[in-house]
Amino acid sequence: MNDPHAAPSKPTHAFTNATAKTSQPSAAAPGFSALPLPPALLENLHSLGYTGMTPIQAASLPLALQGHDVIAQAQTGSGKTAAFALALLSHLNPRRFAVQALVLCPTRELADQVAQEIRRLARAQDNIKVITMCGGVPLRLQSASLEHGAHIVVGTPGRVMDHLSRGNLTLEALNTLVLDEADRMLDMGFFDDIVTVAKQCPAQRQTLLFSATYPEGIAKLAQQFMRTPHTVTVDAQKAGPDIEQRFYEVTRSTRLSTVPLLLRHFRPVSSIAFCNTKQRCNELLDILQAEGFVALALHGDLEQRERDQVIAQFANRSCSVLVATDVASRGLDIKELEAVINVDITPDPEVHVHRIGRTGRAGESGLALNLASMDDMGHVGRIELNQAASVWYPVSELTPISPEPLRPPMKTLQILGGRKEKIRPGDVMGALAAEAGLTRDQVGKITVTDFCTFVAVQRDLAAQALDALNNGKVKGRSVRARLI
Ligand code: AMP
Repeated sequence: MNDPHAAPSKPTHAFTNATAKTSQPSAAAPGFSALPLPPALLENLHSLGYTGMTPIQAASLPLALQGHDVIAQAQTGSGKTAAFALALLSHLNPRRFAVQALVLCPTRELADQVAQEIRRLARAQDNIKVITMCGGVPLRLQSASLEHGAHIVVGTPGRVMDHLSRGNLTLEALNTLVLDEADRMLDMGFFDDIVTVAKQCPAQRQTLLFSATYPEGIAKLAQQFMRTPHTVTVDAQKAGPDIEQRFYEVTRSTRLSTVPLLLRHFRPVSSIAFCNTKQRCNELLDILQAEGFVALALHGDLEQRERDQVIAQFANRSCSVLVATDVASRGLDIKELEAVINVDITPDPEVHVHRIGRTGRAGESGLALNLASMDDMGHVGRIELNQAASVWYPVSELTPISPEPLRPPMKTLQILGGRKEKIRPGDVMGALAAEAGLTRDQVGKITVTDFCTFVAVQRDLAAQALDALNNGKVKGRSVRARLI
């Protein structure tokens, strides 16, 4: 370990501009055009700004497009979703109305994100229908969606099994089975469910398995139902985005009060503060809110509806800090996360890698700030076995770099009405443009859930947008909206 007092004194990171970063891999990254992908798909990748492949895409896509089974070691943030999504889309026949690809994910949040990414990648192709199949939503709604014909199902193993056993879902036409975050699924006890689902898929199919780590169970899964899989690993240095790790020595009594100092010093627009317990989350949340930060907590005590609301607010940049436990934040894919703060060091070095992998995604640079007391030094040592020695910085150098309070750039409006009312993001944008004269730049992420819609609007325009929604019409109908 280095001497905490020999550290550089100037902050190299300060995030004041939400648009300062891009999600492009490095300029030297190999392009997608060399791959045997349909022209419409290639054009769409270009329009999404995917100019080059990330290392995991470059390593796995050529094999997957040739039809091989692949086991790929990939972290969240490495571009793994596009790696399997492009493979399954290239094998899909849009005119055949049957489930041709199934993606199993450990959590509902991950399933939602994967489905979204697949929809984004598929938008240039004819009407490809992607549905999610996870707990927390009535079975009959999902079977109704299935009846309308779905090409791709993304779901959690338990719920997919449920539909299979009721005969709502059949996998006879399946070409591609994907296991995403397979290690997490094993951690959560899904081994038997995965095997049962795999047994119901046709023998002639492609299986793609993505996992951040290789616990024993992965080899067992592969043995049971993969056909001579090719294993792809990208060395951690290349796979991992550019993350600057800083360690700060704290004591039991200064740990929580150091978090506001970090936030005022580095001013990350969005950050996750990881705590090891729910109780610590609540203590930190109280401190941050009392000091005027817009912070929300994500932990196991929240109901699904509350979770959705917290995640929507954080993802659309109307909350600066998400205070979270590891379990609660599983599968969360939030883009443009400037910093991860490890308020508690985790005893598990693999969890540490997962946590810090949330900043600096797909070629962007990120910042991981770690608070450690003398009691944590054993955990720090274990982290160091996995990576370079930690670099220590003195807490005394954490000074505010601006007198302005740290404010998130957006505010969230909630419209009472969602997918069930057939509201689409374009309808909301249309209403905001027509009634309040807002442009696309002034409106952020629009998240339509089953029963409500969250829309992010620039802070200073939120009141005007709220008025417009409450007094105007969305899709020709009056709606109720509120600021959250
Ligand atoms: P994932 O690891 O699948 O969670 O992807 C992390 C993020 O990187 C997602 O927001 C993707 O949209 C983005 N991404 C994936 N592939 C590329 C690429 N080739 N170029 C730029 N961004 C990408």
